[in-house]
Amino acid sequence: MATISKTSVLDRLRDVLQLCSLCAVIVIAYNGGALRNTEAIKVLLLVLVGVGNLLFGKLFCSNLCPLGLVQEWITQRRRREYSHIVRWSAADKILRGIKYILLTVLFIDYHIFLLNVTIAIVVLSIIIVGNMFFCKYLCPVNAASNIFRLTVMLMMVLLANWGLYMAGIDLPLWVLVGALSVGGYILEIVARKAEFNVSLLHIHRDTAKCTGCGNCSASCPFKVDLLKVKRVTDIDCNLCGECVRECDNDALKVGICNTRPDQNRIRGIWFAPLITIVLIAVAMWILSL
Ligand code: SF4
Ligand code: SF4
Repeated sequence: MATISKTSVLDRLRDVLQLCSLCAVIVIAYNGGALRNTEAIKVLLLVLVGVGNLLFGKLFCSNLCPLGLVQEWITQRRRREYSHIVRWSAADKILRGIKYILLTVLFIDYHIFLLNVTIAIVVLSIIIVGNMFFCKYLCPVNAASNIFRLTVMLMMVLLANWGLYMAGIDLPLWVLVGALSVGGYILEIVARKAEFNVSLLHIHRDTAKCTGCGNCSASCPFKVDLLKVKRVTDIDCNLCGECVRECDNDALKVGICNTRPDQNRIRGIWFAPLITIVLIAVAMWILSL
């Protein structure tokens, strides 16, 4: 993780959010009852994973997921890498399908079985394997996030489902989620980026300032190759901002829309966490209605 001198206090907003979410999970687990408030969890996930991913990218994954925090922490402190799965190799592509299967299974009512298996896999993958193994390959929320980022595919499947419904064919929810998962998986391994979407936030690289040192890609938890692009649309990028923190030449920024790096709509890495806070406020407002 970058040293605090390289970032402003505001840029630490993400760290604060992550710690708060971790504390919240510990308090909830300790008190035992709050997890039963499934309505609140649904609204929160729908606003953050649905609206958040659709408009701004993987805000939940980067700012609020306590598992992501633990995984990043362990991955960054590992002396030796245990996972040698090359990005976009055959093994990588096959493993990426597991999270879509788990997402679909979640909607077929195997909750308890899945919960136990998931806890075992989470512990094993985070502690033993590291290297964001759980996020990339096993996390159903990450799969759902990718589906929301692939907006055109999402809309096409929803439209087809609506057409079938109008024709008198009412598909079970898990079939719809399964179709979205198949589409998401194919686009993830073929296109490898979320180009087909309406997401407003991206990491931008100013080629005039960039010296090609490669610190950004080396610091990226997902090993995204930033040197190949001016605007990061990689499917794995969750706007965590680590690459921005590691760039000594101020060549990377979090930006809105398709702006060029020299345009003034570029923001700091505090911008994504700030939007997350606004979305949490929206979710709480919805819950209070
Ligand atoms: S860390 Fe900055 S200067 Fe180095 S390659 Fe990345 S963007 Fe370019
Ligand atoms: S490209 Fe940058 S913002 Fe995206 S995941 Fe990698 S380090 Fe985080």
